[in-house]
Amino acid sequence: MIEVENLHKSFGQNRAVNDVSFRIEAGEVVGFLGPNGAGKTTTMRMITTYLVPDRGRVTIGGIDVLKDPFKVRQQIGYLPESAPLYVDMEVLEYLRYVASIRGVPKERKKRRIRELVEACGLRDVLRRQIGFLSKGYRQRVGLAQSMIHDPKILIMDEPTSGLDPNQIVEVRDLIRDIGKEKTVILSTHILPEVQTTCNRVIIINKGRMVGDGSLDELSKQVKREKAYRVAVDGDEKAAESVFLEAAFVTDCQMIADTEGKSGFILKCVAEGDEIVDMGGEIFRLAVAKGLVLTEIKQETASLENVFASLTLGDGEQ
Ligand code: ATP
Repeated sequence: MIEVENLHKSFGQNRAVNDVSFRIEAGEVVGFLGPNGAGKTTTMRMITTYLVPDRGRVTIGGIDVLKDPFKVRQQIGYLPESAPLYVDMEVLEYLRYVASIRGVPKERKKRRIRELVEACGLRDVLRRQIGFLSKGYRQRVGLAQSMIHDPKILIMDEPTSGLDPNQIVEVRDLIRDIGKEKTVILSTHILPEVQTTCNRVIIINKGRMVGDGSLDELSKQVKREKAYRVAVDGDEKAAESVFLEAAFVTDCQMIADTEGKSGFILKCVAEGDEIVDMGGEIFRLAVAKGLVLTEIKQETASLENVFASLTLGDGEQ
């Protein structure tokens, strides 16, 4: 559905996007993740026809964005970082206007606006002037305008940037709903955003793609480290030294108590490619040394770990 091949874009000496390629199938919700200045916006602008690549090719549904940008724009909804709103207009007036310029047929216009007003929770502000709306509501209006022509693909650049925590949750819920029906790419440097809304993550750093996959797949790519969370009833220091005896365990520390019950929780970390049956080894050691285990659980790599590991030492070039 979206195919990006060897995309390059420089601004002077600055290589903003450097040989980026990926393919997104219909129905995917993809998080485009990277630190500030990584090249997310520049890539999105090239996909949405607003910027011409130096090299490379983008096709949307088989259509080359350079050859037929108008047709491409009909297929996509784009929410740039600052939503392009006319602040002097009322919400309803603006949505009618956008529907007209987006070529929504007259007989469909009323129904489409009604659908979006419901989907984006705009009913209470229809007669309000956009300039007087809160940032969260403006973002909803931005989302509504981006979908007015019922595009199959929605591309959103930092859709929750500048919103307060309640608004962030609302807009994320909205995106999750939209993702049930449409192909979505959203850029963000907020990790929970990706975790809560996306089923695939593309990580970009200094203009280059450094990761692509589900969170699980990326975790596996990154991790040579395994961690177990172990709840133990007994003496904390003794338990720490018992687990540190295991040849592969490089660190073992108490991370919490067991909330009212006796005992504590340790995190045991091992590094290397050859770690086999770490859980079993911890269990056997505990039994041999007379420790009572009340819980043992492998920890999965958080997106924070994955992101840090793939983009370490980064930032604006
Ligand atoms: P952020 O999360 O901060 O929005 P980003 O990942 O979207 O960052 P881009 O906005 O794509 O990053 O910027 C990539 C690099 O290109 C940055 O170094 C930026 O300063 C530079 N850049 C982007 N647009 C232009 C432009 N129009 N002219 C010159 N440099 C630009």
